[in-house]
Amino acid sequence: MADRRDRTTAGKALAALGCAVMMAAGTAAATERLATEGPANEWSSVPGPAPGPARVFGAHSAGCIAGAEPLPPDGEGYQAVDLDRRRYYGHPELVTFVRDLGRAAAAMGMGTLLVGDMAQPRGGPMASGHVSHQTGLDVDIWFRVEAERLPLPAREGLEQPPVVDPATGRPDPALWTLGHAEMVRWTASDPRVARVFVGPALKRDLCERPWADRSWLRRVRPWPGHDDHMHVRLACPAGEAACVSQPPPPPGDGCGAALDPWFGPAPPAVATRPAAPRHPQCRAVLTADTAAAANNGVLP
Ligand SMILES: [Zn+2]
Repeated sequence: MADRRDRTTAGKALAALGCAVMMAAGTAAATERLATEGPANEWSSVPGPAPGPARVFGAHSAGCIAGAEPLPPDGEGYQAVDLDRRRYYGHPELVTFVRDLGRAAAAMGMGTLLVGDMAQPRGGPMASGHVSHQTGLDVDIWFRVEAERLPLPAREGLEQPPVVDPATGRPDPALWTLGHAEMVRWTASDPRVARVFVGPALKRDLCERPWADRSWLRRVRPWPGHDDHMHVRLACPAGEAACVSQPPPPPGDGCGAALDPWFGPAPPAVATRPAAPRHPQCRAVLTADTAAAANNGVLP
């Protein structure tokens, strides 16, 4: 379950739960995985990425990555947060994507985006907080935006306020702006992106806006626990033969009647997909020479 920092606010804990149940593991399958591969903190405590070129093995919720790159803690238009969790690693394509998003947000006048969890140095299961984020292709981008760049120690355990007003079930216009909507549109329109997860009330808000092109809305998926951040999932990069993709989203923009069940008396169940076995190559990724990896990609 979530660690202390995941629980600094109820919203943050819910966000962690939302990511945790995404493509969720059945409890029995998860227990079996831990029995055969060791506890999640084995993956959390490796000193650095497995050496060599970037390679993704398996699916977002049952995989790992060799040759991951660290996201620099600061870049144009973004700053990474919760750095002491060491979840700022990703496939080079994800690192490039985040830097591109930061530049786009800066050009939109958004202030500085807060970049949350990506993956551990070798991906794999986390000791807390998420089931996905295992292959270096997922990243959480907060809806809280900072006007100023925070010093590194001030980026730990920040409040992560939901942008949906619980009294109305609608986004709070002071916290969820046209800039946020444009940021989601920019992200979901990027050809590298497979899915963007946001809370159902935010998907509804995006559906109600008068966009000329609505094709990107198909990739914006409603998911509980995502009222304070968007979870961006990249498609398997070109040449990553061992990377397992999700099936594409259903056809259509996912608006209107497709969205109604989320606001009805019986919202869709979210923990329905059993976990696949972890890719067999992940054991070698986990145990690859740590001496060679020790100086690879640690933060200054
Ligand atoms: Zn996430």
